[in-house]
Amino acid sequence: MGEARKKVRVVVLGGGTAGWMTAAGLGKLLSRDVSVTLVESEDIGIVGVGEATLPHIRAFVQRLGIPEAEFMRATHATYKLGIDFRDFGRIGESYIHPFGSFGEELAGVGFHHWWLQMRATGKAEDLGSYSLAVQMARANRFRTPDEGAGLTSTFGYAYQFDATLFGPFMREFGKANGVTRVEGRVTEVERDGESGDVTALLLEDGRRLEGDLFVDCSGFRSLLLGGEMAEDWEDWTHWLPCDRAAAMPCEHVPGEPLRPYTTATAMPAGWRWQIPLQHRMGNGYVFSSAHISEDEACETIRSAAEGAPLQEPRVLRFRPGRRKRSWSGNVVGVGLASGFLEPLESTSIYLAQMAITYLIELFPEDGQIDPRDRDEFNRLVDLEYDRIRDFLILHYHATTREDSKFWNHVRTMTVPDSLAGKMELWNRAGRIEKYSDGLFYDASWIAVYLGQGIVPKRHDARAALPDPERVAAAMKTLRGAIENEVSSLPMHANYLQDDASRLAENA
Ligand SMILES: Cc1cc2nc3c(=O)[nH]c(=O)nc-3n(C[C@H](O)[C@H](O)[C@H](O)COP(=O)(O)OP(=O)(O)OC[C@H]3O[C@@H](n4cnc5c(N)ncnc54)[C@H](O)[C@@H]3O)c2cc1C
Repeated sequence: MGEARKKVRVVVLGGGTAGWMTAAGLGKLLSRDVSVTLVESEDIGIVGVGEATLPHIRAFVQRLGIPEAEFMRATHATYKLGIDFRDFGRIGESYIHPFGSFGEELAGVGFHHWWLQMRATGKAEDLGSYSLAVQMARANRFRTPDEGAGLTSTFGYAYQFDATLFGPFMREFGKANGVTRVEGRVTEVERDGESGDVTALLLEDGRRLEGDLFVDCSGFRSLLLGGEMAEDWEDWTHWLPCDRAAAMPCEHVPGEPLRPYTTATAMPAGWRWQIPLQHRMGNGYVFSSAHISEDEACETIRSAAEGAPLQEPRVLRFRPGRRKRSWSGNVVGVGLASGFLEPLESTSIYLAQMAITYLIELFPEDGQIDPRDRDEFNRLVDLEYDRIRDFLILHYHATTREDSKFWNHVRTMTVPDSLAGKMELWNRAGRIEKYSDGLFYDASWIAVYLGQGIVPKRHDARAALPDPERVAAAMKTLRGAIENEVSSLPMHANYLQDDASRLAENA
């Protein structure tokens, strides 16, 4: 028998969504190699928003071995098929960015090229007609996808849940998997005089938490990464001017169907979200303080929200951007401590999840951090942030709106070179920049480009070869199959109720 390996002592600072996801993930998946302690302060509290997710969260929940129904019940979750973007490209227009594909590749040529060709001859319906996820969303119907390659496997789904319940759920899970929770406020940080590494966190009451690796999940405060390690902040306000949100949860409107999707409606100085949960509707106005005051934004959300308010609007302030490095010395930032991108595509929890996944993959085996692992972690995290940033900017920049200073600014601003290159590829011939890792593949970019009204000058020449009548017939058949499938599906609310174990008691 070999000697038992020394466990790496991980200290997580912060018990919000990011902190408990990190502690639960490390505690469960690296249980043989780590001891995890999490310190949080109930006096400080959590940011308490963050309700809409991406399908990747399912893999996280599954990997931890948490039954889906139990998770949904605890967090009052609903199913999410995508996001309905209203008034973004042009006032009065809307499109859904689905967790799913549009049509199928034919003869090695992407469906959207065939669609573009058919559209030019007036023989195509709107793109969403060829997506099962979009049509399910429009009809407020839901069931989980099938495995395999048929039509019913062409979509994915995520959850919309109560952020104030998600952390506590993960906390119980983390504690059951060996995480030690410490309640208290961190007031000082001890560093090694030579290496500069953090050695211990000191609590207000004098307690001392020693560790080998420190994960900063202290939220916007970024106490360790931004504070102690003084990692610079890369500010993206010039591309993403929204820097505030007024959040106001409401009751559901009686008699309205429960939507299986999030809604983002463009507003004169930003956009507002509607996120249906089992027990209420999440509402908020994400806005640019350079274009509208906080009072005006609160008033706007009060009058725009459809159900009876459950609270007065609460204003949250943020800055879009990220730390230059998310892993610095022996401090790793996860969640808001490492960066923030507005929730237009529900990406924040995904970014935390990705950071946790990369940390697990690159984890310092015996507590000795190899700078090459750290650099690789930072490279991967930066890639994720940069791609999401570009994708978000596209939603603003690709517009014809001229109705306010805000839209005039985002429509006419210079975008990052990385996005300008992607848009050029698309504009010339409907091509999407290829990448194999990360978020937002072809279907997502196609949904937003076309949804926002950016039609490429030409399409793949191969889509012009066969008999257009046959292509039109194939597209009609697909549309018919989608319609048939959708009409056979249960309503979203009924699907939730079909399995009572998914329903929260007071929902
Ligand atoms: C308006 C808005 C809407 C959003 N919507 C979405 C969405 O739809 N989807 C999505 O994925 N994300 C969304 N997000 C982001 C999401 O809310 C966060 O990514 C997520 O909640 C993670 O937060 P966190 O854990 O990093 O920070 P926090 O929730 O702020 O947690 C910080 C923790 O640190 C602790 N702490 C801080 N200082 C100390 C100290 N000195 N001592 C001890 N403890 C300390 C606090 O007690 C707390 O436990 C949204 C964010 C905003 C602002």
